[in-house]
Amino acid sequence: MDRLFLSPPHMSGKEQQYIAEVFESNYIAPLGAFVNRFEESIKLKTGISHALALSSATAGLHLALRVLGIGKDDIVLASTFTFIGSVNAILYQGARPVFIDSDESWNLSPKLLKKAILELSVKPKALILTHLYGQVAKLDEIVAICKEEGIYLIEDAAESLGTSYGGKQSGTFGDIGVYSFNGNKILTTSGGGMLLSENEEWITKAKFLSTQAKEDFLHYEHKEYGYNYRMSNVLAAIGVAQMEVLEERVTRKREIFEFYKQELGSIKEISFMPELDNSYGNRWLTTLIFEKTNPLTVIEALQEVNAESRPLWKPMHLQPLFKESEVFIDGTSEVLFNKGICLPSPTNSTNDELSRVIEVIKILCS
Ligand SMILES: *Cc1c(COP(=O)(O)O)cnc(C)c1O
Repeated sequence: MDRLFLSPPHMSGKEQQYIAEVFESNYIAPLGAFVNRFEESIKLKTGISHALALSSATAGLHLALRVLGIGKDDIVLASTFTFIGSVNAILYQGARPVFIDSDESWNLSPKLLKKAILELSVKPKALILTHLYGQVAKLDEIVAICKEEGIYLIEDAAESLGTSYGGKQSGTFGDIGVYSFNGNKILTTSGGGMLLSENEEWITKAKFLSTQAKEDFLHYEHKEYGYNYRMSNVLAAIGVAQMEVLEERVTRKREIFEFYKQELGSIKEISFMPELDNSYGNRWLTTLIFEKTNPLTVIEALQEVNAESRPLWKPMHLQPLFKESEVFIDGTSEVLFNKGICLPSPTNSTNDELSRVIEVIKILCS
């Protein structure tokens, strides 16, 4: 039996042709036409005015904090129920993360967000909001709170490329948004990220910082420090080919979710991650929780049929790294973590292959 991975790369077939064009032009580096084309494809898809291709989403979040002027001892609010890449940049900047719990949407709770802003002795500068597993958080409420309070909203849309809310793409609601093209995401360049914003000044500054902060001189002149965070033209060629199939990939991810739900949805103890009204998630990973069955038993049993599954993200406030951090939690994400798993959701799999997973869960939960 072939291994069923959570979310492996799925090439469109055009990638090698575009990479060949890169080689023919010899613009392996630095930059080149495909970096621009990749950025244009993101602008076209999302309607955003400015986009910057980077080496990772983590780099994008770091640049976002830098250009917003967030630094030492500033408070940055963040979803606790997320992947570490979402919040590492807060530490890079010497800022202080404060973690906010989820609500029934599994995403950040607007109520706890308000509570945090009210109760913290120092005003937070920004919120890093994750759209978990490709489903949007309660954007109407969260955007309104951030506007009212004068807090920058940075959308961590690493997992939610192709997701929309009210017809508008995730990553375009905040001051700055970030997508990831890491190997496990819905599209991949093997590794990469994209920064987006309506604010040209921020993106121009981020571009400057991402290429070692070289001042505009023939000789090498530096007034401040930067990073080496830009994306290579070779990887951008992969990205351009991947963007051509984004809609197909979202459709297939959603079909995978519907198939699991149709087959397992009648089991009383199972519930799937919800999707907000008026939203269209990319269902990057199908995720579910069990009321009775131990999720680790399910993961082990799936291993037996050569299928990869994993616990849901372990909340940041439960990580040893953040044991000193302030939190506004009510236990929701901890419960989800203790009960939930991610199922194999490869867009290059057939429903027949996914049936292996379904049979195992049916037996365990009967
Ligand atoms: C994958 C991921 C990241 C990091 O993306 P990279 O491109 O690997 O740096 C950040 N946040 C979330 C929520 C992610 O899933």
